[in-house]
Parts: sequence; structure tokens; C-alpha cells
Amino acid sequence: MPTLIPARYGKAVRLKAGEALKIINTHGNQVLDTWAFNANDPSEYMSMAHTRSRNSRIFVSRDDALASNHRRTILTIEQDTSPGRHDILLCACNAWIYRELGITAYHRSCSDNLHEALSEFGLQIPWTPSPLNLFMNVPVDPEGRLDRLPPESRPGDYVVLRTACDVIVAISSCPQDITAVNAGRPSDAEFEVIAAG
Ligand SMILES: [Zn+2]
Repeated sequence: MPTLIPARYGKAVRLKAGEALKIINTHGNQVLDTWAFNANDPSEYMSMAHTRSRNSRIFVSRDDALASNHRRTILTIEQDTSPGRHDILLCACNAWIYRELGITAYHRSCSDNLHEALSEFGLQIPWTPSPLNLFMNVPVDPEGRLDRLPPESRPGDYVVLRTACDVIVAISSCPQDITAVNAGRPSDAEFEVIAAG
């Protein structure tokens, strides 16, 4: 049975080595910021800087390994039914970004979603690693300029991430509704644990 990630909220799940996580973009328009921590040593975490460095590439696609800050594979993209647009360059949204965008009241953020979700596992990380922004459509032009476009994924598109060690994965259904990254309508999503093998 899939687990719901409510719109604008986050969820975390613990996985054993060899299990996989199917992350489903139920409505197609949703960016899902995703983090992974070694369950036995959370100071080892999925690092986008090390992923870019080890892959020598600024995008990830099917069969690509996602590297930890200890320079080893922590997750692998085993399946991807989407057009393959995922961002590994941009930070998670946080309170200061919404302030910069002119929001004066509290606005939920991927950073807050990460820490709320981890607290359910008794895990406190004093900062927010750069996330794997699943389904986030951030094209890069030849001059290095970025754009932030609505996802190209379709309802029901999914990725399957296979674990290389025991991990805690956190997923945030990005609450960004000021820019176009979620096509203006932050939505719910789902995940499902797939057995090893
Ligand atoms: Zn966000």
C-alpha cells in the first residue's frame, strides 16, 4: 500500500540495504525534494555536490548512482518513467527564501518538512543538505543560466531508488506556490517500499 505525502508536507521512511523506494508523482506537477541519511551514521548523507563530482554531470537520470559525502553510492535511480528531468543544483526552499519572495506570514518549506519528518525518527540534523529535487525542471542554458519551469512529468510518473545501505529517506512535497516549479498548485504524492531483490 502506498503511503501518502500530503500536499506541502514531508514524510520519512527507514529502509534496509537492498530495499527500494518507489516515489510517485500522483498528479504529475509536484516537485519532491528528497534526502537520504545512513541510518547507522547520519553524518553520512546523500550529497548533490559529491554526486555531481563523481558523475561529472549536472543532471541525473536512470541508472545513475547518487553519492554520499563519504563518496560511495547511497542510492541508485533504478527506474524512471518521467521524462527524466530532476534537479541536483538548487537548494531546498526555506523560511528565508519565502521572506525574499515577499511572504511575511509563516509559509511551509521543504527545509521545515525535512526536519519535521526526521524528528519522527528521533533524528536531529542541525542543517539542511542540498536535496535531490525529483521531477524539478531546471534547464541550464549554454551560458550557465538556470530557469525554473513547471515539471514535465505526467500524473502517475515515478522513480525507483534502490538503497546501497540502511537509510532514512525523507521526502518533501514542495510547498512552493510563488514560483512555477510546482505549476502553481502544490499537490500530494505517494511512496511505496519495494522489497530487496
Ligand atoms: Zn520546496
